Amino acid sequence: MSVPPPYRGRFAPSPTGPLHFGSLVSALASWLDARAHAGAWLVRIEDVDAPRTVPGAAEGILATLARFGMHADEPPVWQSARSTHYANAFDRLKAAGIVYPCGCTRKEISDSLLHAHARHTTLAYPGTCRSGLHGKPERAWRLRVPDGDAALVEFDDRWQGPQTQNLATEVGDFVLRRADDQWAYQLAVVVDDADAGITHVVRGADLLDSTARQIYLQRCLGVPTPAYLHVPVVTTVDGEKLSKQTGAQALDSAQPLAALHDAADYLGLVLEGGPAASLAAFYTAATTAWVRRVASLVGTSS
Ligand code: GLU
Repeated sequence: MSVPPPYRGRFAPSPTGPLHFGSLVSALASWLDARAHAGAWLVRIEDVDAPRTVPGAAEGILATLARFGMHADEPPVWQSARSTHYANAFDRLKAAGIVYPCGCTRKEISDSLLHAHARHTTLAYPGTCRSGLHGKPERAWRLRVPDGDAALVEFDDRWQGPQTQNLATEVGDFVLRRADDQWAYQLAVVVDDADAGITHVVRGADLLDSTARQIYLQRCLGVPTPAYLHVPVVTTVDGEKLSKQTGAQALDSAQPLAALHDAADYLGLVLEGGPAASLAAFYTAATTAWVRRVASLVGTSS
């Protein structure tokens, strides 16, 4: 029997603003899961999307994590320094003949989706440029997804339970290289997780819908699929994901313990002995509570 690789987890914030309560919940969950497995915890700054990156935000996030007592086991990785790795992976997919240039504008795609919706069919990218650019200029590059049963991706999420997505009917051929010449998040995250030897991904459930695409890309690139756990996303009263755009406040770095207790409450963690008086005591009690919480969930793996 082969021995599983040692646990390596990560927190991968996008530096679009300061760390807020929603991102603290994801950071805490990934940190506790790594501690519960006596594993390594890494931080990756997801600044692949240069237009959305806010100068200074990454440094602020790293400083806040340190203030909250979450210290990465290795120096942080910055996506902006890794474009050659994305280009190499892309070239391999291109050589395999499974990516193609797409000339569709957003408007053309949304028009055709509206049309499809009116006929009660799929909302996935309709594959317009699969057969060529039809005289349009090249804009983005897409990965061709399979049809039929091969399009079904199944995985067991450790928090959310069994998941299935049909890539052909629910997503369609998806973008790896964007029209604005940026590498797409889906490609970057798969290449980065594989290069870092990540064995466990713990993040917000807003990314549950991206996971099947990432698993499919892992298969295309011949890299391992990590275990996934998606924690519930913190939303505003209107049900929108808490983010800078929806008015999330930066965390009060002067009160790390109070914010950490709130984040633990949000995750449904019941700390033995009540509120902790120090960061060290908090993390010890929260790790035990995390193990109990995950064991009580629908997912089957640990
Ligand atoms: N950068 C993403 C975010 O901040 C997280 C990506 C991931 O964990 O895979 O929402």
